[in-house]
Amino acid sequence: MLNPAAAARRALPSVDRLLKLDAVDALVSRYGRPLVVATIRAELEKQRTLLEQERFAVNIDDAALVAACTERLRAAVSASLKPVFNLTGTVLHTNLGRAPMPQCAADAVMQAMTRPVNLEFNLRGGERGERDSHVERRLTQLTGAAAALVVNNNAAAVYLTLNTLALKKEVVVSRGELIEIGGAFRIPDIMARAGCRLHEVGTTNRTHAKDYAAAISPRTAAIMKVHASNFAIQGFTAAVPEPELAALAHDHDLPFIIDLGGGALVNLEDYGLPHEPTPREALARGADLVTFSGDKLLGGPQCGLIVGRGDIIAKIKRNPMKRALRVDKMTLAALEAVLRLYANPDRLKHELPTLHWLTRPLADIEAQARRVLPAVRAALGAQVEARIIACASQIGSGSMPLDALPSAGIAFRLPARRRGTAAEMLAADFRALPIPVIGRIKGGAFMLDLRCLDDEAGFIAQLDQLSIGTH
Ligand SMILES: *Cc1c(COP(=O)(O)O)cnc(C)c1O
Repeated sequence: MLNPAAAARRALPSVDRLLKLDAVDALVSRYGRPLVVATIRAELEKQRTLLEQERFAVNIDDAALVAACTERLRAAVSASLKPVFNLTGTVLHTNLGRAPMPQCAADAVMQAMTRPVNLEFNLRGGERGERDSHVERRLTQLTGAAAALVVNNNAAAVYLTLNTLALKKEVVVSRGELIEIGGAFRIPDIMARAGCRLHEVGTTNRTHAKDYAAAISPRTAAIMKVHASNFAIQGFTAAVPEPELAALAHDHDLPFIIDLGGGALVNLEDYGLPHEPTPREALARGADLVTFSGDKLLGGPQCGLIVGRGDIIAKIKRNPMKRALRVDKMTLAALEAVLRLYANPDRLKHELPTLHWLTRPLADIEAQARRVLPAVRAALGAQVEARIIACASQIGSGSMPLDALPSAGIAFRLPARRRGTAAEMLAADFRALPIPVIGRIKGGAFMLDLRCLDDEAGFIAQLDQLSIGTH
């Protein structure tokens, strides 16, 4: 006699029988036969395993199987990369794609994607052109540099610069600047891979001009300064002013390189934000080359920019690795569109999303919190307490780590018996929404910082799909 599990296993329908159902036929015309067959097989396999484990007194009917397959198919064809609400309070969030871009950049990318473009074609002479030429003039105007080039990101900019100027030679860097930036970008590792030797000088908190001077030898290829973008050393500290380092480098006929990281192209103080060194300032203080990211404070696409002396940039352009690190036409299209906005600093705050979110008035965020709160409360029901809180946003991507921007948000509290993992649970529930909402957990509570809430109506409209405690 069969045990109940074996009997139920026998009751599982065959793939062929399921394929004859009208509901499955509809799935085939929508998703294609191969995917539907594979999905049915996977679902039947799962049911068989469950039966073998006798975990359930299973009542398998066709409708339930079809429903399970439909759900699987929906998940299989849905995009992996999709929009989310960044309510983390970190404006330039590396894991959430850093700078959101203006519509003009999206339009330019669309053109470049769908139509032939003069990427490397000189329209005047009708001969081969240079891809960086589309942005070089704007970059030199905005930074005061003689020349500029673009690569895939700032890590690539640092790599290519060092590989060109210091292959098999030494680069002098202060021990206070041997930094790691999230995601395993470490200055010493990049240097090693670029084929040059790091000559560390000074100590973590203090480095003097005489430390640099003592390190210079015939093996030295450059002096480099790395902007301490994601941390600050405070207290008993000393660093050599950039003009002094530049003079020392130039006395020895060496280039002075500054890796700025953030790369704000305007003086952020004009917008009520804390000061962040600009490439123009770095060059004015004697740097021969400055490297920075396109998708941090610049507010553009992921790319790395190298600006500075014409002869050095020309040499970097000739490095065969430039080809491996070059940007594509979509990046260039987006970058050019964003750089064009910089022509009018008065409009910039309204047109560049990064600057718009960074400079958003507190009263504006608070008013939004008051508008959104009733909808949030209604969606959560009585089981969760939601209230408006004062909080602090960060610029993110390592920029100005000590400066917090006053903001407002909504914090959640669950009844005492459900605390513990309650904050993680709520965070997961919000992440499971059609447009996932990403908040943060602070002091054991889940909270949403509303500084970057762009689509308020879209945010509210999906709240009724929140299912608390099911994820
Ligand atoms: C962010 C940063 C980098 C890395 O830039 P990516 O664009 O992320 O490659 C390098 N150096 C500094 C100082 C940075 O802040």
